[in-house]
Amino acid sequence: MSKITLGRTGIVSDKTGFGALPMQRVSEAQAGVLLKKAYDSGITLFDTARMYSDSEKKIGLHLAHLRTHITITTKTMAKNANDFWNDLQTSLATLKTDYIDVYQLHNPPFCPKPGDESGLYDAMLEAQRQGKIRFIGITNHSIFVAEEAVQSGLYDTLQFPFSYLSTERETALARLCKAHNVGFIAMKALCGGLLTNAAAAYAYLNQPDFDNVLPIWGVQHESELDEFIGYMHNPPALTGELLAIITQDKSELAGNFCRGCGYCMPTCPAEIQINNCARMIQLIRRTPSAQWLTPDSQRMMHTIENCTECGICRTKCPYGIDTPALLKANLEDYKAVISYQLPNDNW
Ligand code: SF4
Ligand code: SF4
Repeated sequence: MSKITLGRTGIVSDKTGFGALPMQRVSEAQAGVLLKKAYDSGITLFDTARMYSDSEKKIGLHLAHLRTHITITTKTMAKNANDFWNDLQTSLATLKTDYIDVYQLHNPPFCPKPGDESGLYDAMLEAQRQGKIRFIGITNHSIFVAEEAVQSGLYDTLQFPFSYLSTERETALARLCKAHNVGFIAMKALCGGLLTNAAAAYAYLNQPDFDNVLPIWGVQHESELDEFIGYMHNPPALTGELLAIITQDKSELAGNFCRGCGYCMPTCPAEIQINNCARMIQLIRRTPSAQWLTPDSQRMMHTIENCTECGICRTKCPYGIDTPALLKANLEDYKAVISYQLPNDNW
């Protein structure tokens, strides 16, 4: 098993971290099975967030007795100091702990700094002074904010989407983190489910070039956890076969595509489930298609017809996607798939 030191925090972890976002989709009992198995297999870093509904609660429930043996990283989406303190108190209570190892500002649209209007960074410093957090982190989907955060010297860790689809600039970000001794936590190494070969994803990030990159793998099913535990003990080599898969995926998913992050969503006046609708064609081609052709899925796709083109989603997409246009393109493709696969369906 290969170990990694998370930049200047000095936190040592296995190269495999546990992404606890999917814990909100499983029962408390199943969460217990997964979290216990992960820990027993050598995983010690668990990443969650205040916004992942009851994910923190399940970690507290099942791992509190192991507190000194594990690293907990969590996040706040607070926009001001008051909300920051409320979130931190809630996280400490639900995680059943009196300190967070790495407390991360969750995808702010700018890089918070000491003395700025938001008061977020000053609150971080005060929480650190009080011993409620050990290190200050930031997560982001914007390369601009991420680069600024690393170069500012203010953040001990950065969490950023990173996979074999990452651009040269994003790959340079990993090197920038190393140069500034900032811990780099990689999220979305499977691109929100669009990359389906976990061995290729794991092998790519396990290269010596990325020896400072700590991927967290979102786990919902025990079989997924078993797969990653297997890789921890027998890391897959980047063989010609896996490289061919990477090349193929890169050509299929080149350019602008929806990563499914959902940052554009809650404010859509037409209540379109953008994070699925805007990548429906990739989901149909790359995952079992039947689940996307059900009456519920068809109803979901129908809502695209209610898009008013207000453009709110476009302004919120950290990848600069023309979301309304992408939605419409997906709707047209979807109609074609339905009429081909379900010719008698009353679309
Ligand atoms: S442009 Fe369409 S999809 Fe985007 S927020 Fe407005 S109504 Fe929703
Ligand atoms: S359109 Fe952009 S913000 Fe919305 S889910 Fe897709 S990648 Fe995320």
